[in-house]
Amino acid sequence: MINFFRLLDSNRHIVFCPMNFVADTYVGCPHGCWYCYAPSFSARGGFEDSFPKFRNFRRRFNCDRDFEKIEAALEGGMVKGTCSRKQEEFVAKALEHRHPLRIGSVSEPFGVPLEKQYRDTYRVLEMLIQHDYPFVVCTKSPLVATAAYVNLLKSAKKVGVQISLISLDDNLLQSIESSGSGLTPSARSRYTTLKKLSNEGIFTTCRIQPVIPQVTEGGIKDLIFALAEAGVNHVIAEFLWFPLVHGKKMSARLKLELDNYGRNNGSVGEFLKKHNNDLYTFYRSFGDYRVSDGRLFYSKSQISRSMTKISAIVSEANNEFNSNMSFGSGNEETTFLNSTNNCCGVDRIDGFAERSPCTVHTMFRIAKEKGRVTLNEMKESYNPYSERIVELWNKEEKQGYFIENRVFKIKRKVTDNRVEYVYDETLFPA
Ligand code: SF4
Repeated sequence: MINFFRLLDSNRHIVFCPMNFVADTYVGCPHGCWYCYAPSFSARGGFEDSFPKFRNFRRRFNCDRDFEKIEAALEGGMVKGTCSRKQEEFVAKALEHRHPLRIGSVSEPFGVPLEKQYRDTYRVLEMLIQHDYPFVVCTKSPLVATAAYVNLLKSAKKVGVQISLISLDDNLLQSIESSGSGLTPSARSRYTTLKKLSNEGIFTTCRIQPVIPQVTEGGIKDLIFALAEAGVNHVIAEFLWFPLVHGKKMSARLKLELDNYGRNNGSVGEFLKKHNNDLYTFYRSFGDYRVSDGRLFYSKSQISRSMTKISAIVSEANNEFNSNMSFGSGNEETTFLNSTNNCCGVDRIDGFAERSPCTVHTMFRIAKEKGRVTLNEMKESYNPYSERIVELWNKEEKQGYFIENRVFKIKRKVTDNRVEYVYDETLFPA
């Protein structure tokens, strides 16, 4: 069993993320991002243990038989041995529907030295392309823009490449992404990778995830303008969140790195300085921070203000460079700012649009057009977890309701004992 395909099934993924069909060609990640949430999934040994464990980058596949199983799943829906038993039904449904696959959800698909040596990702991409299967790859590695991979990706009809780049400031990235090792690719090399792939006509996305308030916000305009100049197709931005299981320790580690950055002539905002560079405490200093789904999220009103500014910067950059870069908010609160039908922008890629409609975005579209949206209308859209949608549609929480609590401008309304949602322009913190 290679446990390759996964359909992310948290409540948040089901309602807010249509790119929840994921697969990782390796295990762990060679990069050293201290803001990474992925180690929290294996936090049993505590914070100190989880990061070194996660950075133990290793092969997922042991033999040719593993690849044959993936081939059988793509060819005839024989998913046994490619995912967990409890997900078999859903993975089979997703493959049958050709639900776009995201390669590299919690690992680096082009990490060196493994990918150079074994080419496991190359082999998987070849199979996907042979089956004309829609997919995106997420990476920080410039290896994706070398000749062999570019040629391979260009032979695909339905493909996107997403590069994570949160800032152009290498001094900062050295502190918070490389843990001093210098092994995580520089901002310059990732920027060049985005530019090269965009010039090759491949659909490119820059993932500005996370936006770190008071730390990367100041450089966002320069970054977005540079992306527009490079011909990048889409930008997605999402504010840093902390997994509750080790959020305080993660913040303490980030603080050390930010202190270091300060000693190396870097600077952070005054409000964060007042909290001694401790982002966790800074987050909790706002009256409207959110704790839910096992996470601590940034202040709702700050997200509202900052994300609106970021989306405006994307428009400005498009005017300046005559570019057509779209924008997506990775924070579900500000979904209404998306200029595409989901935050990843993948619906702009040929062959993706009908494959994985975003539930909350579909709600917005219908509610805006018709004044309200009903559950029956939502049932017309594909979602592998359609039964869970019914549950979440009606889900009541301690205070308010699941969807209303997370998304601005959408309001629940009960008519004839039926729950509907209406669009309300005023439900937005100024
Ligand atoms: S590259 Fe992504 S998966 Fe790897 S450590 Fe950084 S944030 Fe985590």
